[in-house]
Amino acid sequence: MPAAKTSRKTPAAPAGQPAKQKKAQRTSPTESVRVEVWTRAAGRCQLCNEWLLESTQIGHYSYRRGEMAHIVGQSDDPRSPRTDSPLTKEQRENPDNFMLLCQPDHDTIDHKLGVGEFTIAKLHELKREQEAHMRHVTGLPRNKKTCVVRVFGTIRSNTVQLSRQECNETTLRHANPRFAQFYLDPRNEGTEIELTPLGNPEDHASLEIYWSAARTAIIKGIGKIQDAVKAGDITHLSIFPFARIPALVYFGFHLGNKVRVTLFERHRVAEEEWYWQPDAATLAFEWRRLQQGTQVDSVALIVNISGTIPIADLPSAFDQRFTVYELRPVGVTPVPGLIASQATLGAFRGCYRQFLGMLEQEHKSARQLHLFPSVPLSIGVAVGMDLMPNVHPELLVYDRCPSNFALALTVNS
Ligand SMILES: [Zn+2]
Repeated sequence: MPAAKTSRKTPAAPAGQPAKQKKAQRTSPTESVRVEVWTRAAGRCQLCNEWLLESTQIGHYSYRRGEMAHIVGQSDDPRSPRTDSPLTKEQRENPDNFMLLCQPDHDTIDHKLGVGEFTIAKLHELKREQEAHMRHVTGLPRNKKTCVVRVFGTIRSNTVQLSRQECNETTLRHANPRFAQFYLDPRNEGTEIELTPLGNPEDHASLEIYWSAARTAIIKGIGKIQDAVKAGDITHLSIFPFARIPALVYFGFHLGNKVRVTLFERHRVAEEEWYWQPDAATLAFEWRRLQQGTQVDSVALIVNISGTIPIADLPSAFDQRFTVYELRPVGVTPVPGLIASQATLGAFRGCYRQFLGMLEQEHKSARQLHLFPSVPLSIGVAVGMDLMPNVHPELLVYDRCPSNFALALTVNS
């Protein structure tokens, strides 16, 4: 509303009431109302979240740019926005009737094109949500931090972007909220483990050139993480994976279990890409033997979760000597998007560990396990993390590239 602002033109006062109108402009809102509105909004625009206590236009000089915007219009003047309300004039000066906004957003909600969208009810809802969020966030202990690790590469020519702010929003909205930190990227150069410039494996003269470069980049990133964990600078990691599955298995294995980790999964839901859906149904998993081999130490595992790899798609070397297992969700056709909740991810990991335990018993002499994964990204990391060095067999991870499976990476060798 214009009355609460000093930078806008004052509208003409209704005829016959000039003195009264001017008086209202000088006294509204009171200092105590301002303090309450600013505090509840935590100094941020309640629409766009801009920090309003400093202005970039005049360097870092502290300057209040926030504007006190009436939700129900200050007066009953029908030319003002949002005047249709039973609130008395005094009630309209209550903190509940003000929003803290940046100047452009204040202009937007008061503009004749904006009033249709920004109704009284809508503004109350936005104010309530923002204030509840600020109360939640400012109540978190400062030591609840998590170090963000984005492992990003190219997947069939697709790449992904995830800003620092989006990371922070995601870790704060998690069931166990934490403040995102970017300890591994102090100069804000971008992604912590960056494989994107490598392009696709098939872009290179040989696949090994790609996987060798990927291994080098991952080991370099893991080295930084391990140093920071040793120094006590990192106590928790939030992993955002988007890369070829063998690279993620390799990353997960070398990361190990020495530091607590929250894995995130990229979901195909607009604007909520990385949020887990705690209410999604929890799936169960099972393994079964697709083929009984003639050599007890020759074992392959097909993990069918995002799609189904038929046994016929395995390279011809996987003949009747091999015992081939399949690990899959119970009673559900493998399709993308099945891992919607952390509970389902946990159920998969439990089943996978049991499978590894079964291998120790029934294929004691097997030194190698050949893995053919059709899995979501978080599972790629988990498969590596849950493989125990010196206990479980060497894991040979295959990749469909572009149509036939080829060995990509070996871990635990
Ligand atoms: Zn704003």
